[in-house]
Amino acid sequence: MPTKSENESAARLGPDDRLSPEARRAAIERFGGEEFDVVVIGGGATGAGSALDAATRGLSVALLEARDYAAGTSSRSSKLIHGGLRYLEQKDFGLVREALRERGLLLSRLAPHLVRPVPFLYPLEAHWEWPYIGAGMILYDTLGGGHQGVPGHRRLSRRKAMRIAPALRDDAMIGGFQYYDAQVDDARHTMTVARTAARYGAQVANNIAVVGFLREGERVTGVVARDAHSGAEIKVRARQVINATGVWTDDIQNMVGERGKFHVRASKGIHLLIPRDRLQLDTGLILRTEKSVLFVIPWGRHWIVGTTDTDWKLDRAHPAASRSDIEYIFERVNKVLREPLTHADVEGVYAGLRPLLSHESESTSKLSREHTVAVPVPGLVAVAGGKYTTYRVMAKDAVDAAARSMEKRVAPSVTHLTPLVGAEGFEALRNRTEGLAAETGLHPARVQHLLGRFGSRIFELTAEIARDPALAEPLPGADDYLAAEVRHAVTHEGAQHLEDVLTRRTRISIEAWDRGLASAEPAARLMADPLGWDEDTVAREVDLYRRRVAAERESQEMPDDHAADVARTSAPDVLPGSPPEAPSPRDPD
Ligand SMILES: Cc1cc2nc3c(=O)[nH]c(=O)nc-3n(C[C@H](O)[C@H](O)[C@H](O)COP(=O)(O)OP(=O)(O)OC[C@H]3O[C@@H](n4cnc5c(N)ncnc54)[C@H](O)[C@@H]3O)c2cc1C
Repeated sequence: MPTKSENESAARLGPDDRLSPEARRAAIERFGGEEFDVVVIGGGATGAGSALDAATRGLSVALLEARDYAAGTSSRSSKLIHGGLRYLEQKDFGLVREALRERGLLLSRLAPHLVRPVPFLYPLEAHWEWPYIGAGMILYDTLGGGHQGVPGHRRLSRRKAMRIAPALRDDAMIGGFQYYDAQVDDARHTMTVARTAARYGAQVANNIAVVGFLREGERVTGVVARDAHSGAEIKVRARQVINATGVWTDDIQNMVGERGKFHVRASKGIHLLIPRDRLQLDTGLILRTEKSVLFVIPWGRHWIVGTTDTDWKLDRAHPAASRSDIEYIFERVNKVLREPLTHADVEGVYAGLRPLLSHESESTSKLSREHTVAVPVPGLVAVAGGKYTTYRVMAKDAVDAAARSMEKRVAPSVTHLTPLVGAEGFEALRNRTEGLAAETGLHPARVQHLLGRFGSRIFELTAEIARDPALAEPLPGADDYLAAEVRHAVTHEGAQHLEDVLTRRTRISIEAWDRGLASAEPAARLMADPLGWDEDTVAREVDLYRRRVAAERESQEMPDDHAADVARTSAPDVLPGSPPEAPSPRDPD
């Protein structure tokens, strides 16, 4: 077990950055009492990143998230930190270089505890592809600046490729290339960015939605926010507001009552989780499809297989995967597998919405092909598009735009130099896994698991376990996680509802065959004390979660998007009507 001084030093690692229930209440109190330099709307990767960027430039910052950190797209991606091999084909070299630079930074400095290299096999079907794809591989390595934390690509004969991918059919390839990218638990990473923002003084809160704006003439001077817990409306004054709401960008724009400089539309992508032992592969796969690519990505004891790309105009808080989406994935991946996947192999399913830029006026500042920053009215900056990998660049560009309109001089961004919470000392602790196991009484595999999720903040958990040894037990129904992780999600990571813990702080909702039903009640009981829940609240949270799982399962049986949406939205929501959707302003005659 850690010594008393180790526990104390864990607690002293900086200003109090715990996203505890008390910290949330304190943040909301300050929202009403101060004028902030920057108010950020939206706690996805872009918004959390913007809060961190602004706070580390010395600005006072408030971050408001309607549901939960990463509840939107940022928990539903393919979870790759990548340059995007396919963008090379479109000759978008600048974009690939930028994303690969971010990959290197995240792997080596910003989040080495959360981001890890992942190998992919690119199987070739025809001989003419050798020089073409080979040149792409060399370029990808070169743009990555000499690999930066990942091994370079290698060419594999058919025999060698089959050795690492025996699940592939004999006629699936003539050989291939193995290359590396990186992966991250997106929801955990986003929450960690928000927590790091808090460490540098940002006031952050979830379950609080922006429902309107404060104006002085044309100028935006703040937001009106509604606290989902108390129902109270709070006026938060700001010198600059950043709209980082992904597929809700237009709703926020509509609240201002003026037409934005760009629009964001939603495109749905779904993923399946398959048990690791179901596919005999020692590598991930990247497969070409007619429209794009399909990934098979190693994920703990599972594979993530995806994705799709279809327009979505229905419920944006709960995008639903239909049976046709699932079958589309089977059809593509089964073309190369010896033993085809079937519905019986599916452990979990999730759907997410890409925020795609659909229209820009001439005055929009287009900072890269992928993301856009604009100032639709004085005092408001909108940032959207892009991809997870480049969240830090998007955040920097958004805060740069806000800073340009401020009276005071604002320091340049330092987030490329700012490790996230848990990154400090991670490598040294990883080298001490056995020692930590001996000191804490935890199995080395557990220590490894905890280091890969909490980094050097592992001591926050081991200190809890020292106080209450029952927390060292695995969570019923989800052996991969400890009871301590559920408690810590509430005391340090801002979890407010059972859904937050089962879908985002852990990934039990997609990793467990029963989608977390067996874990629901024990997890709710662990959350009850720090959140002050009574028996009725525990029962309500468990019931809401069960109904959510039932609705998701039903939607996945439906033939199309409409039927899937009706099934999914039939379940009552833990935060009904959040985020709010504002009617569009009337078009001028
Ligand atoms: C299927 C799929 C696969 C992907 N795979 C990858 C990948 O492998 N690698 C990669 O780099 N990128 C990937 N992406 C893209 C990436 O996930 C997104 O670009 C990124 O997550 C967008 O983050 P965001 O913060 O802009 O939006 P979001 O994460 O959606 O955040 C917006 C937030 O705003 C909040 N909000 C909305 N309205 C309000 C309001 N009124 N008040 C307060 N808060 C509000 C929402 O609740 C939400 O949390 C993928 C996307 C999809 C859909």
